[in-house]
Amino acid sequence: KLVVLGSVNADHVLQVPSFPRPGETLHGRNYQVIPGGKGANQAVAAARLGADIGFIACVGDDAFGQNIVKAFANDGMNVDAVHCMENAMTGIAMIQVADNGENSICLDAAANALLTVNLVNQHEAQIAAADYLLMQLETPLCGIEQAARIAKANNTQVILNPAPARELPDSLLALVDVISPNETEAHLLTGIEVTDEASAAQAAAVLHAKGIATVLITLGAKGVYLSRANEGAANEGAAEGCIIAGFRVEATDTTAAGDTFNGALVTALLEQQPLEQALVFAHAAAAISVTRFGAQTSIPGREEVDSFLAQ
Ligand code: ADP
Repeated sequence: KLVVLGSVNADHVLQVPSFPRPGETLHGRNYQVIPGGKGANQAVAAARLGADIGFIACVGDDAFGQNIVKAFANDGMNVDAVHCMENAMTGIAMIQVADNGENSICLDAAANALLTVNLVNQHEAQIAAADYLLMQLETPLCGIEQAARIAKANNTQVILNPAPARELPDSLLALVDVISPNETEAHLLTGIEVTDEASAAQAAAVLHAKGIATVLITLGAKGVYLSRANEGAANEGAAEGCIIAGFRVEATDTTAAGDTFNGALVTALLEQQPLEQALVFAHAAAAISVTRFGAQTSIPGREEVDSFLAQ
């Protein structure tokens, strides 16, 4: 069993010729509201790929919140722990996508900010019974750390995708079994700029030294740097690592690439695929997602990933 804990957002996406300067008004086009939020994206990816998954999250008592819970259930997710919070709005992201492909994003956590310790404690039994707990950083840190503590006490493996980028306390990192930062996040967490295999290894060593056994630094189109701490030597930073290449595709929109990667990875681990094989599966799912527009609109199902891998 898998438990994902994290955010739900309505992504309000507008295509713009360039980002407006302060005081300027521009005409955008192709306005769309697309289901997003890192927690929801990762949960949806796992559900579509066939994982037995429960999602712990908070939505608002608005139309988007009600509809998204139905959509989660249609994707095969257990939504018993998706709370509809009275007098709250569902989280939103205001996203501008410029014609050159760059984006600029503003978030309002809204209901996501209510996923705190008390609420997490209500789901202690579900976290304790899971094989894996997958989390990101769009909900309050106190709730994330509490969930990690419950997991650790019950032999549930903790996978943390430390996104969006922020610094984290060592107390949280010490509870994490697998961490999956991108290059920016790895830089912020370790102080080491990841530009090649050698610097990725250095950044991974810093994270191993904080007690994390497995470090996966995602490298965009280049793939992922996988580093495993040597048995019993995690705290000394001794490790073995290598790059596992991704798939070459024509990128349309990389939104939710990292989320699809994480949801797919944990799905494969749940099936007891060896880590290297699980990473190839995650690369395939993420590669398909970058060929399509939007967050949850871009996440593939199992058959599609399996036939992509069979090519
Ligand atoms: P994030 O989206 O969180 O910034 P990355 O950009 O590192 O994370 O991408 C995460 C994963 O998504 C990569 O490890 C890879 O599997 C896949 N991916 C991202 N961009 C591309 C791309 N242009 N082509 C193929 N795969 C990609």
